[in-house]
Amino acid sequence: MANDVWVYIEHKEGAVSPMSFELLGIGKQLAEGFGSNLCAFVIGAQVDDLAKEAGTYGASKVYAVEGDVFKDFRGEAYAKAAAALLEKYKPEIALFRATVMGTDVAAAAAAQLGFGLCTDTIGLAIDGGKVKMTRAAFGGNYSVSVVNEKAAPQIATVRPKAFAMPEKGAGSAEVVKESVAVSDADLATKVVEFIKSATSVNLVEADIIVSGGRGLGNDQGFAMLKELADLLGGAVGASRAAVDSEWIPYEHQVGQTGKTVKPKIYIACGISGAIQHLAGMRTSDCIVAINKDPDAPIFKAASFGIVGDYKDIVPKMIEKFKAKLNK
Ligand SMILES: Cc1cc2nc3c(=O)[nH]c(=O)nc-3n(C[C@H](O)[C@H](O)[C@H](O)COP(=O)(O)OP(=O)(O)OC[C@H]3O[C@@H](n4cnc5c(N)ncnc54)[C@H](O)[C@@H]3O)c2cc1C
Repeated sequence: MANDVWVYIEHKEGAVSPMSFELLGIGKQLAEGFGSNLCAFVIGAQVDDLAKEAGTYGASKVYAVEGDVFKDFRGEAYAKAAAALLEKYKPEIALFRATVMGTDVAAAAAAQLGFGLCTDTIGLAIDGGKVKMTRAAFGGNYSVSVVNEKAAPQIATVRPKAFAMPEKGAGSAEVVKESVAVSDADLATKVVEFIKSATSVNLVEADIIVSGGRGLGNDQGFAMLKELADLLGGAVGASRAAVDSEWIPYEHQVGQTGKTVKPKIYIACGISGAIQHLAGMRTSDCIVAINKDPDAPIFKAASFGIVGDYKDIVPKMIEKFKAKLNK
Protein backbone atom coordinates (compact mmCIF):
# COMPACT_ATOMS: atom_id res chain seq x y z
CA MET A 1 0.00 0.00 0.00
CA ALA A 2 1.20 3.49 -0.80
CA ASN A 3 2.03 5.87 1.98
CA ASP A 4 -0.31 8.63 3.12
CA VAL A 5 -0.92 11.90 1.30
CA TRP A 6 -0.01 15.00 3.31
CA VAL A 7 -1.18 18.60 3.05
CA TYR A 8 0.56 21.50 4.76
CA ILE A 9 -1.89 23.82 6.52
CA GLU A 10 -0.76 27.41 6.02
CA HIS A 11 -2.04 30.04 8.46
CA LYS A 12 -1.69 33.73 9.16
CA GLU A 13 -2.82 35.79 12.14
CA GLY A 14 -4.42 32.73 13.76
CA ALA A 15 -6.55 31.71 10.78
CA VAL A 16 -6.03 29.04 8.15
CA SER A 17 -5.58 30.33 4.62
CA PRO A 18 -8.75 28.81 3.08
CA MET A 19 -6.78 27.65 0.07
CA SER A 20 -5.03 25.09 2.28
CA PHE A 21 -8.38 23.33 2.51
CA GLU A 22 -8.53 23.32 -1.29
CA LEU A 23 -5.44 21.11 -1.18
CA LEU A 24 -7.26 18.72 1.15
CA GLY A 25 -9.82 18.23 -1.67
CA ILE A 26 -7.29 17.06 -4.25
CA GLY A 27 -5.29 15.35 -1.49
CA LYS A 28 -8.36 13.24 -0.66
CA GLN A 29 -8.71 12.16 -4.30
CA LEU A 30 -5.05 11.10 -4.38
CA ALA A 31 -5.30 9.26 -1.05
CA GLU A 32 -8.40 7.39 -2.26
CA GLY A 33 -6.55 6.49 -5.47
CA PHE A 34 -3.68 5.09 -3.42
CA GLY A 35 -5.96 3.44 -0.84
CA SER A 36 -4.12 5.40 1.87
CA ASN A 37 -5.02 8.19 4.30
CA LEU A 38 -5.24 11.93 3.89
CA CYS A 39 -3.24 13.68 6.60
CA ALA A 40 -2.44 17.32 7.29
CA PHE A 41 0.44 18.96 9.12
CA VAL A 42 0.55 22.31 10.79
CA ILE A 43 3.30 24.29 12.51
CA GLY A 44 2.84 27.27 14.85
CA ALA A 45 2.78 28.54 18.42
CA GLN A 46 -0.64 27.05 19.21
CA VAL A 47 -2.38 25.16 16.48
CA ASP A 48 -5.06 23.01 18.11
CA ASP A 49 -7.98 24.86 16.53
CA LEU A 50 -6.32 24.93 13.12
CA ALA A 51 -5.63 21.21 13.32
CA LYS A 52 -9.23 20.44 14.27
CA GLU A 53 -10.54 22.54 11.39
CA ALA A 54 -8.49 20.48 8.92
CA GLY A 55 -10.50 17.47 10.09
CA THR A 56 -13.72 19.08 8.92
CA TYR A 57 -12.27 19.26 5.41
CA GLY A 58 -11.36 15.59 5.23
CA ALA A 59 -8.00 15.06 6.97
CA SER A 60 -8.13 11.91 9.10
CA LYS A 61 -4.97 12.74 11.03
CA VAL A 62 -3.20 16.04 11.66
CA TYR A 63 0.44 16.23 12.76
CA ALA A 64 0.98 19.36 14.84
CA VAL A 65 4.29 20.94 15.79
CA GLU A 66 3.96 23.67 18.41
CA GLY A 67 6.37 26.01 20.17
CA ASP A 68 7.15 29.66 20.87
CA VAL A 69 9.89 29.54 18.27
CA PHE A 70 7.12 29.16 15.65
CA LYS A 71 5.08 32.16 16.88
CA ASP A 72 6.09 34.37 13.95
CA PHE A 73 6.43 32.85 10.51
CA ARG A 74 10.10 32.21 9.74
CA GLY A 75 10.66 30.00 6.72
CA GLU A 76 13.87 28.71 8.27
CA ALA A 77 12.19 27.41 11.45
CA TYR A 78 9.09 26.09 9.71
CA ALA A 79 11.18 24.27 7.09
CA LYS A 80 13.26 22.53 9.77
CA ALA A 81 10.06 21.29 11.40
CA ALA A 82 8.49 20.28 8.07
CA ALA A 83 11.64 18.42 6.97
CA ALA A 84 11.79 16.54 10.29
CA LEU A 85 8.17 15.39 9.92
CA LEU A 86 8.53 14.40 6.28
CA GLU A 87 11.70 12.46 7.01
CA LYS A 88 10.08 10.64 9.93
CA TYR A 89 6.79 9.70 8.26
CA LYS A 90 7.75 9.60 4.56
CA PRO A 91 4.32 10.36 3.06
CA GLU A 92 3.74 9.57 -0.62
CA ILE A 93 3.54 13.25 -1.43
CA ALA A 94 3.44 16.49 0.57
CA LEU A 95 1.41 19.34 -0.92
CA PHE A 96 2.02 23.00 -0.09
CA ARG A 97 0.28 26.10 -1.41
CA ALA A 98 2.27 27.92 -4.11
CA THR A 99 2.29 31.11 -2.05
CA VAL A 100 5.27 33.03 -0.72
CA MET A 101 5.03 31.24 2.64
CA GLY A 102 4.21 27.80 1.22
CA THR A 103 7.00 27.96 -1.34
CA ASP A 104 9.46 29.17 1.28
CA VAL A 105 8.79 26.19 3.56
CA ALA A 106 8.53 23.60 0.76
CA ALA A 107 11.71 24.67 -1.03
CA ALA A 108 13.84 24.83 2.11
CA ALA A 109 12.46 21.51 3.42
CA ALA A 110 13.11 19.83 0.04
CA ALA A 111 16.66 21.20 0.02
CA GLN A 112 17.31 19.97 3.56
CA LEU A 113 16.08 16.51 2.63
CA GLY A 114 17.89 16.52 -0.71
CA PHE A 115 14.61 15.91 -2.55
CA GLY A 116 13.18 17.43 -5.71
CA LEU A 117 10.33 19.90 -5.66
CA CYS A 118 7.71 20.59 -8.32
CA THR A 119 6.61 24.22 -7.95
CA ASP A 120 3.43 25.92 -9.13
CA THR A 121 1.70 22.63 -9.91
CA ILE A 122 -1.64 22.87 -11.74
CA GLY A 123 -2.38 19.16 -12.24
CA LEU A 124 -1.98 16.12 -9.96
CA ALA A 125 -2.83 12.55 -10.95
CA ILE A 126 -1.69 9.04 -10.08
CA ASP A 127 0.39 7.44 -12.82
CA GLY A 128 2.28 4.18 -12.45
CA GLY A 129 1.92 4.19 -8.66
CA LYS A 130 3.39 7.70 -8.27
CA VAL A 131 1.87 11.16 -8.34
CA LYS A 132 2.36 12.86 -11.70
CA MET A 133 2.68 16.62 -11.21
CA THR A 134 1.89 19.00 -14.07
CA ARG A 135 3.09 22.60 -14.30
CA ALA A 136 3.50 25.31 -16.93
CA ALA A 137 6.96 25.62 -18.47
CA PHE A 138 8.89 27.95 -20.76
CA GLY A 139 6.90 31.06 -19.81
CA GLY A 140 3.60 29.25 -20.11
CA ASN A 141 4.05 28.08 -23.70
CA TYR A 142 4.23 24.40 -22.67
CA SER A 143 2.99 22.28 -19.84
CA VAL A 144 5.24 19.61 -18.43
CA SER A 145 4.42 16.58 -16.27
CA VAL A 146 7.01 15.28 -13.85
CA VAL A 147 7.34 12.30 -11.54
CA ASN A 148 10.10 12.25 -8.99
CA GLU A 149 10.90 8.53 -9.10
CA LYS A 150 13.52 8.41 -6.40
CA ALA A 151 12.35 10.84 -3.73
CA ALA A 152 10.00 9.74 -0.97
CA PRO A 153 8.10 11.86 -0.32
CA GLN A 154 7.54 13.80 -3.49
CA ILE A 155 7.00 17.47 -2.69
CA ALA A 156 4.89 19.94 -4.67
CA THR A 157 3.63 23.47 -4.32
CA VAL A 158 0.19 23.87 -5.88
CA ARG A 159 -1.28 26.99 -7.45
CA PRO A 160 -4.14 28.43 -5.41
CA LYS A 161 -7.53 27.81 -7.04
CA ALA A 162 -6.14 25.12 -9.33
CA PHE A 163 -8.51 22.64 -7.60
CA ALA A 164 -12.05 22.85 -6.27
CA MET A 165 -12.65 23.61 -2.59
CA PRO A 166 -14.05 20.53 -0.80
CA GLU A 167 -17.28 20.77 1.21
CA LYS A 168 -16.87 21.38 4.92
CA GLY A 169 -18.24 18.39 6.82
CA ALA A 170 -18.65 17.10 10.33
CA GLY A 171 -15.47 14.99 10.24
CA SER A 172 -12.83 15.18 12.92
CA ALA A 173 -9.15 14.41 12.79
CA GLU A 174 -6.90 12.67 15.25
CA VAL A 175 -4.33 15.28 16.29
CA VAL A 176 -0.82 13.91 16.75
CA LYS A 177 1.51 16.28 18.62
CA GLU A 178 5.09 16.14 17.43
CA SER A 179 8.01 17.92 19.02
CA VAL A 180 10.83 19.05 16.82
CA ALA A 181 13.98 20.49 18.39
CA VAL A 182 14.27 23.95 16.86
CA SER A 183 15.47 26.84 19.01
CA ASP A 184 16.18 30.51 18.37
CA ALA A 185 19.87 29.71 18.66
CA ASP A 186 19.58 27.52 15.51
CA LEU A 187 18.07 30.33 13.48
CA ALA A 188 19.83 33.13 11.65
CA THR A 189 16.76 35.39 11.57
CA LYS A 190 14.36 37.02 13.98
CA VAL A 191 11.18 38.89 13.15
CA VAL A 192 11.50 42.54 14.10
CA GLU A 193 8.29 43.89 12.59
CA PHE A 194 5.63 43.01 10.02
CA ILE A 195 4.77 45.85 7.61
CA LYS A 196 1.71 45.31 5.46
CA SER A 197 2.15 46.21 1.80
CA ALA A 198 0.14 49.32 0.97
CA THR A 199 -0.78 47.81 -2.39
CA SER A 200 -1.42 44.31 -1.16
CA VAL A 201 -4.25 42.70 -3.09
CA ASN A 202 -5.96 39.46 -2.31
CA LEU A 203 -6.99 38.63 -5.84
CA VAL A 204 -6.89 34.90 -5.35
CA GLU A 205 -9.46 34.91 -2.56
CA ALA A 206 -11.71 37.69 -3.95
CA ASP A 207 -15.31 36.75 -4.81
CA ILE A 208 -15.62 39.62 -7.29
CA ILE A 209 -12.84 40.86 -9.58
CA VAL A 210 -13.05 43.85 -11.89
CA SER A 211 -10.19 43.50 -14.35
CA GLY A 212 -8.78 45.84 -16.96
CA GLY A 213 -6.66 45.46 -20.07
CA ARG A 214 -4.95 47.48 -22.76
CA GLY A 215 -8.37 48.73 -23.85
CA LEU A 216 -8.47 50.99 -20.76
CA GLY A 217 -5.98 53.23 -22.56
CA ASN A 218 -4.24 54.54 -19.42
CA ASP A 219 -3.87 54.18 -15.65
CA GLN A 220 -6.86 56.47 -15.05
CA GLY A 221 -9.07 53.69 -16.35
CA PHE A 222 -8.02 51.61 -13.35
CA ALA A 223 -9.26 54.35 -10.98
CA MET A 224 -12.72 53.86 -12.50
CA LEU A 225 -12.44 50.07 -12.17
CA LYS A 226 -11.33 50.42 -8.56
CA GLU A 227 -14.42 52.48 -7.79
CA LEU A 228 -16.60 49.67 -9.15
CA ALA A 229 -14.57 46.97 -7.35
CA ASP A 230 -14.72 48.86 -4.01
CA LEU A 231 -18.47 49.30 -4.38
CA LEU A 232 -18.90 45.56 -4.88
CA GLY A 233 -16.37 44.60 -2.18
CA GLY A 234 -14.10 43.12 -4.83
CA ALA A 235 -10.52 43.40 -6.06
CA VAL A 236 -8.93 44.84 -9.20
CA GLY A 237 -7.24 42.54 -11.70
CA ALA A 238 -5.36 43.23 -14.91
CA SER A 239 -4.09 41.72 -18.13
CA ARG A 240 -0.39 41.47 -18.78
CA ALA A 241 -0.65 44.20 -21.42
CA ALA A 242 -1.90 46.62 -18.75
CA VAL A 243 0.84 45.54 -16.33
CA ASP A 244 3.52 45.83 -19.02
CA SER A 245 2.24 49.35 -19.76
CA GLU A 246 2.92 50.13 -16.07
CA TRP A 247 -0.67 51.19 -15.44
CA ILE A 248 -0.92 48.79 -12.49
CA PRO A 249 1.57 46.65 -10.51
CA TYR A 250 2.32 43.04 -11.43
CA GLU A 251 0.62 41.66 -8.30
CA HIS A 252 -2.73 42.41 -10.04
CA GLN A 253 -1.92 40.36 -13.13
CA VAL A 254 -4.26 37.49 -13.94
CA GLY A 255 -3.25 34.72 -16.32
CA GLN A 256 -0.70 32.12 -17.11
CA THR A 257 2.20 34.17 -15.80
CA GLY A 258 0.08 35.98 -13.23
CA LYS A 259 -2.46 34.72 -10.74
CA THR A 260 -5.07 32.00 -11.23
CA VAL A 261 -8.41 33.24 -9.93
CA LYS A 262 -11.86 31.72 -9.59
CA PRO A 263 -14.20 34.44 -8.31
CA LYS A 264 -17.99 34.29 -8.38
CA ILE A 265 -17.97 37.22 -10.83
CA TYR A 266 -15.11 38.31 -13.11
CA ILE A 267 -15.75 41.56 -14.98
CA ALA A 268 -13.26 41.93 -17.86
CA CYS A 269 -13.00 45.47 -19.26
CA GLY A 270 -11.02 46.16 -22.43
CA ILE A 271 -9.44 42.69 -22.36
CA SER A 272 -9.35 40.79 -25.66
CA GLY A 273 -9.35 37.28 -24.14
CA ALA A 274 -5.94 35.94 -25.15
CA ILE A 275 -5.40 32.29 -24.24
CA GLN A 276 -2.81 33.25 -21.61
CA HIS A 277 -5.29 35.56 -19.89
CA LEU A 278 -8.10 32.99 -20.06
CA ALA A 279 -5.78 30.44 -18.45
CA GLY A 280 -5.97 32.44 -15.23
CA MET A 281 -9.71 33.20 -15.04
CA ARG A 282 -11.75 30.95 -17.33
CA THR A 283 -13.08 28.86 -14.43
CA SER A 284 -14.69 31.93 -12.80
CA ASP A 285 -18.35 31.20 -11.99
CA CYS A 286 -19.65 34.11 -14.07
CA ILE A 287 -17.65 36.17 -16.58
CA VAL A 288 -18.95 39.56 -17.71
CA ALA A 289 -17.02 40.98 -20.68
CA ILE A 290 -17.08 44.62 -21.75
CA ASN A 291 -15.35 45.21 -25.07
CA LYS A 292 -15.99 47.53 -27.96
CA ASP A 293 -15.09 44.86 -30.51
CA PRO A 294 -18.06 42.46 -30.96
CA ASP A 295 -15.66 39.81 -32.31
CA ALA A 296 -13.28 39.92 -29.32
CA PRO A 297 -12.46 36.31 -28.23
CA ILE A 298 -13.34 37.13 -24.61
CA PHE A 299 -17.03 36.98 -25.58
CA LYS A 300 -16.66 33.24 -26.30
CA ALA A 301 -15.68 32.66 -22.67
CA ALA A 302 -18.17 35.16 -21.22
CA SER A 303 -21.47 34.39 -19.50
CA PHE A 304 -22.61 37.95 -20.30
CA GLY A 305 -21.17 40.24 -22.96
CA ILE A 306 -21.57 43.99 -23.30
CA VAL A 307 -20.36 45.50 -26.59
CA GLY A 308 -19.31 49.07 -26.04
CA ASP A 309 -16.77 51.50 -24.63
CA TYR A 310 -15.95 50.76 -20.97
CA LYS A 311 -15.88 54.53 -20.35
CA ASP A 312 -19.62 54.61 -21.07
CA ILE A 313 -20.55 51.31 -19.45
CA VAL A 314 -18.59 51.20 -16.18
CA PRO A 315 -19.94 54.58 -14.89
CA LYS A 316 -23.47 53.33 -15.61
CA MET A 317 -22.76 50.13 -13.67
CA ILE A 318 -21.40 52.20 -10.76
CA GLU A 319 -24.54 54.35 -10.79
CA LYS A 320 -26.88 51.33 -10.90
CA PHE A 321 -25.05 49.41 -8.17
CA LYS A 322 -24.96 52.50 -5.95
CA ALA A 323 -28.73 52.78 -6.27
CA LYS A 324 -29.28 49.06 -5.76
CA LEU A 325 -26.95 48.84 -2.76
CA ASN A 326 -28.12 52.18 -1.25
CA LYS A 327 -24.57 53.56 -1.29
C1 LIG B 1 4.30 33.23 -22.48
C2 LIG B 1 3.23 34.26 -22.35
C3 LIG B 1 2.61 34.45 -21.11
C4 LIG B 1 1.59 35.41 -20.98
N1 LIG B 1 0.97 35.57 -19.77
C5 LIG B 1 -0.08 36.40 -19.68
C6 LIG B 1 -0.81 36.55 -18.46
O1 LIG B 1 -0.49 35.95 -17.43
N2 LIG B 1 -1.87 37.37 -18.45
C7 LIG B 1 -2.28 38.07 -19.55
O2 LIG B 1 -3.26 38.82 -19.45
N3 LIG B 1 -1.59 37.98 -20.69
C8 LIG B 1 -0.51 37.18 -20.79
N4 LIG B 1 0.19 37.12 -21.94
C9 LIG B 1 -0.11 38.12 -23.00
C10 LIG B 1 -1.31 37.75 -23.84
O3 LIG B 1 -0.90 36.94 -24.93
C11 LIG B 1 -1.98 39.01 -24.42
O4 LIG B 1 -1.01 39.76 -25.13
C12 LIG B 1 -2.59 39.91 -23.35
O5 LIG B 1 -3.43 39.17 -22.51
C13 LIG B 1 -3.40 41.02 -24.05
O6 LIG B 1 -3.89 41.88 -23.09
P1 LIG B 1 -5.20 42.71 -23.37
O7 LIG B 1 -6.35 41.82 -23.63
O8 LIG B 1 -5.33 43.70 -22.27
O9 LIG B 1 -4.81 43.57 -24.66
P2 LIG B 1 -5.30 43.45 -26.18
O10 LIG B 1 -5.17 42.06 -26.67
O11 LIG B 1 -4.60 44.53 -26.91
O12 LIG B 1 -6.84 43.76 -26.08
C14 LIG B 1 -7.39 44.99 -25.76
C15 LIG B 1 -8.89 44.87 -25.93
O13 LIG B 1 -9.49 46.06 -25.49
C16 LIG B 1 -10.58 46.35 -26.37
N5 LIG B 1 -10.84 47.81 -26.25
C17 LIG B 1 -10.08 48.82 -26.72
N6 LIG B 1 -10.60 50.01 -26.31
C18 LIG B 1 -11.69 49.72 -25.57
C19 LIG B 1 -12.64 50.50 -24.86
N7 LIG B 1 -12.52 51.85 -24.81
N8 LIG B 1 -13.64 49.88 -24.21
C20 LIG B 1 -13.77 48.52 -24.23
N9 LIG B 1 -12.90 47.73 -24.90
C21 LIG B 1 -11.86 48.31 -25.53
C22 LIG B 1 -10.11 45.92 -27.73
O14 LIG B 1 -11.20 45.66 -28.58
C23 LIG B 1 -9.33 44.67 -27.40
O15 LIG B 1 -10.14 43.52 -27.48
C24 LIG B 1 1.21 36.20 -22.11
C25 LIG B 1 1.85 36.00 -23.33
C26 LIG B 1 2.83 35.05 -23.45
C27 LIG B 1 3.49 34.85 -24.78
